[in-house]
Amino acid sequence: MNTAVTPTDRSQSTEDAEDTPALVARLRATFATGRTRPLAWREEQLTRLRALFTENREAIADALHSDLRKPRAEAYAAEVDLPVREIDHTLAHLAQWLTPTSLGQESLAGLPQGSTAGTQYEPLGTVLVIAPWNYPVQLSLVPVAGALAAGNAVLLKPSELAPATSELMARLVPQYLDPEAVAVVEGGVPETTELLAQRFDHIFYTGNGTVGRIVMRAAAEHLTPVTLELGGKSPVFVDWDADVSVVAARLADTKFRNAGQTCVAPDYVLTDPATARALEVALAEAVEGMFGPDPQSSEAYGRMVNQRHFDRVSALLGSGTTVFGGHTDREDVYIAPTVLAGVKGDDPVMQEEIFGPVLPIVEVEDLDEAITFINDRDKPLALYGFTENETTRRRLAAETSSGGLGFGLPMAHLRVHDLPFGGVGESGMGSYHGPHSIAAFSHRRARLDVPLG
Ligand code: NAD
Repeated sequence: MNTAVTPTDRSQSTEDAEDTPALVARLRATFATGRTRPLAWREEQLTRLRALFTENREAIADALHSDLRKPRAEAYAAEVDLPVREIDHTLAHLAQWLTPTSLGQESLAGLPQGSTAGTQYEPLGTVLVIAPWNYPVQLSLVPVAGALAAGNAVLLKPSELAPATSELMARLVPQYLDPEAVAVVEGGVPETTELLAQRFDHIFYTGNGTVGRIVMRAAAEHLTPVTLELGGKSPVFVDWDADVSVVAARLADTKFRNAGQTCVAPDYVLTDPATARALEVALAEAVEGMFGPDPQSSEAYGRMVNQRHFDRVSALLGSGTTVFGGHTDREDVYIAPTVLAGVKGDDPVMQEEIFGPVLPIVEVEDLDEAITFINDRDKPLALYGFTENETTRRRLAAETSSGGLGFGLPMAHLRVHDLPFGGVGESGMGSYHGPHSIAAFSHRRARLDVPLG
């Protein structure tokens, strides 16, 4: 295991000598001193984390290109600029979010005159963040920012499937953040298993539900609370009255970014047969507009993270009929942006989260059938709708469940820092971003003050 836990002035041998239990004990000891609690320390860490992003913009984009062939514009937008905005928003509001609340006198009936009551946030202690590979910087460091803002010590375990990014964070984090309170441990299953055997005060996991269950089981040993940011098949309902050229442009942009490897990417489309025909044509135009006639040669188009995921997604291409795309190149881990028409609910592509650049269109007669289709499956991380009809919007909101609900522009809800971002049911538990990160990484302590006299 490569631990990058020590300040730059410590020797390599000291670094290698620190095993996982000792590292966690050191972080816990730091937290116990109270060092991470003052607002000034939290703000300083966030300011330094901001500098980590802005001073290493190119190195971050290089690492993401190496791991995912992530186009630079996507890397800057999702893995530098968005986290910086999240940090700025947190810095601007942190003092206010941490202000204790107080109850009105009507809540204190029956208590002695002069009693006061309210709540205040207190940090949980030492937090473990386990991150995935698809947005490996954002999904590592935005949770770390939240944990620090809430006054915790943090141990980050980046994904081994994005090795260049993992190595970069292991190198940069100790240079920028307080090395007594923040550590990075690199590694895969054995290292994560060893980490999960330790006692943490919160575990924040982003990834798939199978590992989510492993994390939750391990956390149960220590009664450690968890946030599980998981995935799922996020549906898109396209109503007959929606402008298909707008829908196609927004669907293509969100589905095929990062080669479809986005947890809140549209997974499949539900629409009526006539709209499906129009959408197929408009999607083909939108994709050609984004990547040209040969997406494989476009700098704007990414790749599958590895051959295992390439094989998994390639195997789903047989469902329905291919409207466009379908081309694959295993050596290049390339799967063309692909739209499949006439897909049925029991086709292979509808049995698991696609997490790749393949968009199935499932035809339904009406909204009732769409709602039944959605509710017959696991609760998704996001549900999207394109419609001009207020009743349709109201029904989708009232008669389905999902982590987030977005009309008009998929994936945009995660950019609204004050909205909670998280799943429900199979798509996860808990949420974060903005003030919701403070709630996720804090204990909300009840306080009652009764005068002695
Ligand atoms: P991954 O394979 O990188 O795994 C995530 C983390 O789990 C890694 O750090 C990995 O080392 C660790 N891990 C893997 N196997 C383990 C084991 N057996 N024991 C302990 N730890 C283990 O990422 P992934 O799961 O392939 O990510 C894709 C999934 O994540 C998709 O389902 C996607 O929808 C979901 N996701 C969700 C969000 C969200 O914010 N809700 C964001 C991104 C991805």
